[in-house]
Amino acid sequence: MKGGPGFRRVPAKTDLKNAMALTLDLTKPESRAQLRPQMAVDKKSLIGLSRDAMAQALAALGVPERQTRMRVRQLWHWLYVRGVSDFAQMFNISKELRATLDAHFTIARPEIVEEQISQDGTRKWLMRFPPRGAGRPVDVETVYIPEEGRGTLCISSQVGCTLTCTFCHTGTQKLVRNLTPGEILEQLLVARDRLGDFPDADTPDGAIVPAEGRKITNIVMMGMGEPLYNFDNVKEALLIASDGDGLSLSKRRITLSTSGVVPEIYRTGEEIGVMLAISLHAVRDELRDVLVPINKKYPLKELLDACRAYPSLSNARRITFEYVMLKGVNDSLDDARALVRLLRGIPAKINLIPFNPWPGSDYECSDWEQIEEFADLVNKAGYASPIRTPRGRDILAACGQLKSASERMKKTDRLKLEAMMIAGHGE
Ligand code: SAH
Ligand code: SF4
Repeated sequence: MKGGPGFRRVPAKTDLKNAMALTLDLTKPESRAQLRPQMAVDKKSLIGLSRDAMAQALAALGVPERQTRMRVRQLWHWLYVRGVSDFAQMFNISKELRATLDAHFTIARPEIVEEQISQDGTRKWLMRFPPRGAGRPVDVETVYIPEEGRGTLCISSQVGCTLTCTFCHTGTQKLVRNLTPGEILEQLLVARDRLGDFPDADTPDGAIVPAEGRKITNIVMMGMGEPLYNFDNVKEALLIASDGDGLSLSKRRITLSTSGVVPEIYRTGEEIGVMLAISLHAVRDELRDVLVPINKKYPLKELLDACRAYPSLSNARRITFEYVMLKGVNDSLDDARALVRLLRGIPAKINLIPFNPWPGSDYECSDWEQIEEFADLVNKAGYASPIRTPRGRDILAACGQLKSASERMKKTDRLKLEAMMIAGHGE
């Protein structure tokens, strides 16, 4: 797909200056992330620490106790309102303290290995995070989807996945590791850098990009990985993303999608308080056991009971049920009727996702008329059931196509996929 129409690519960075030249004409404002030296691997990141953890870190550096709350407030503002990634820019913090902080901590962004922009405006970034412990660096994909009146960032929670949903490309990759709260948040920070969602460094103190003017208005935990198998880190990150004195994303604009890790569903509502999406995909246990194998552990009845008990569930706060349309597998009108019966009594939205093919996948996307008939039936039963338009297919950014570079697709596979998409397969 290299050189294909509609997207531009920043090549893997071998030389910082070179990569800068190639990157700077991609987006405005110019990337601050690309101008920075790479993150030192031996320093812990301040990003992703709770206020308490940050206060403890400051105390350990010798900051007097009476100052820690104020310092935490200042740091929080610089990191999450102003989006700075260099201690030197924090001008209301003394030079001495900045130097101490810099000696012990980092606030640098991960390296952007690749940025692709689709014909439809979707962007995909491949970010490289430094090794942890004896591990290797890991590559993580994050996708931005601009739509009329809103922009959604699709964030990854793990590198790879322990689950093996048979229609999902990430599911073919073993779990490499969980992402830390900092790494989950940094995906949002990098995207805001690249999209100009932070004020420029030289704007007056306190200036912020107002919420209604932002490019990223929503986030979905629908990238690589199963967020509820990385509960604590995802929780920490989402609480920071929704903190009103920082990134300030409303919890109603944050959606966590799970394949159905039943024991953590209640906690998601209780402890994080974000919107819930369930990857349902089948209405009978025998089929769901195959498509979403975690169903063998937590079958449909348990899953739906957990949904009914989701905290603050109401017509204003519905659960989204995702349903991937697989030709001849789960797309009959009988399935649609069974779906309506199954969800009876649960305030729900149904999101029909045309299957996004990837080379080697065993499924085909349902025919368009079939998807529409299915949607019609579900709509008539009173459920909103938008058909999710595939976005960013030309850069493999569509749902379920993310896979880390450590298991990058072979070139022949990419060509095969491109041919499939040109032939209209799956449309
Ligand atoms: N692990 C979580 C979140 C990541 S997947 C989960 O499974 O919910 C995000 C959504 O993309 C899920 O609904 C998933 O089932 C769907 N998906 C995966 N592969 C897909 C594909 N090839 N085509 C369309 N949707 C897919
Ligand atoms: Fe993992 Fe979700 Fe893909 Fe299933 S659909 S393999 S849970 S990422």
